[in-house]
Amino acid sequence: MQNSSCLRAFRRPFLTGLALSLLVMILPFATLDEAPESPSLEPSKPVISPRPLAVASPIPIPSPAASVPTLQPEPPSPAKGVDAEATIRVLMQDGITVKTLSLADYLWSVVAAEMPATFEPEALRAQAVCARTYAASRARTGVHSAKSADVCAGSGCCTAFIDPKDAAQRWGDYAEAYTAIIRDAVSDTDGIILTWDGEPIQAVFFSSAAGNTEDAETVWGYAIPYLVHVESPEGDEVPNYHSTVSLTPQEVQACAQRAGLWPDLSGPPSTWFQGLTRTAGGQVSEIKLGGIALSGNAARNLFSLRSASFDVSWDGSVFVFSVTGFGHGVGLSQYGANALAKQGYTWQEIVLHYYTGVSLGTYPV
Ligand SMILES: [Zn+2]
Repeated sequence: MQNSSCLRAFRRPFLTGLALSLLVMILPFATLDEAPESPSLEPSKPVISPRPLAVASPIPIPSPAASVPTLQPEPPSPAKGVDAEATIRVLMQDGITVKTLSLADYLWSVVAAEMPATFEPEALRAQAVCARTYAASRARTGVHSAKSADVCAGSGCCTAFIDPKDAAQRWGDYAEAYTAIIRDAVSDTDGIILTWDGEPIQAVFFSSAAGNTEDAETVWGYAIPYLVHVESPEGDEVPNYHSTVSLTPQEVQACAQRAGLWPDLSGPPSTWFQGLTRTAGGQVSEIKLGGIALSGNAARNLFSLRSASFDVSWDGSVFVFSVTGFGHGVGLSQYGANALAKQGYTWQEIVLHYYTGVSLGTYPV
């Protein structure tokens, strides 16, 4: 991806004056036939006292199969009917309309929007579990309770969402087959979510990583115990896995100033960027621009980079940012999940790989 403009970095106000406080994220874009672009969900900050679950109607929880209590119960298996009987209130893209859907129908629209139907079945199942978990988490925090909704259909807030008719139109001749594939991914994981301490986790995900995922703490500034860096196996099979952004010195300066930053750029451009350090996961931890320290995520937003895994060089006329992967890098990598699925890993193994130490539970907990 070539990008010679920094304007996209300023669609939302995020002037703080202090570079290290720039934690705004590039919003995700849902795709269907092509690779997932960046379902980069940003978790809400951990809540000490979660609000009661705001799901519209009580959801049956399967009774224990055996009457004899066990000290270490088996992880739950998909129990047919949970998604069909649960309902969820969805604030639509107009910001006004609230539709009450079955959880099954809602999850279909999310998985269809967030991951290509051509991905491996185990990756799609992992995506369905993430979507179900994320919905449970969002409902629990009451983020849209003011509008009597549990989640919204906005990819920049909750998750991407597509109406089945729109999806069918985009899929064309493949509509019937892809519709069934997505439906199976949801039903094969019926009712299963991921939990930590009995609560649904913040199952954030993103498109592709540069070898490793990232700690939530290094990207968002607060630690979440199950969102820590792990290896991720995707590579050059990912479309636009490597991308570059070229900026003139004037453009770099304009980007900084529009963000309220006034770095000392009196020296030659070759000296403007210095002190690049990396996180344990490999993203840029910090880089100095004219003496002002930027976090990798802040630099990513400032210069409209696809990820914070980048290098920058000066070629005598422009700065060249060489970027790997796409998205914030925290949680499940969609292309990584697909790569693991191709290697034979199950959806359970995939989600337990990307979310460290979590358990499988039943919706809602
Ligand atoms: Zn939302």
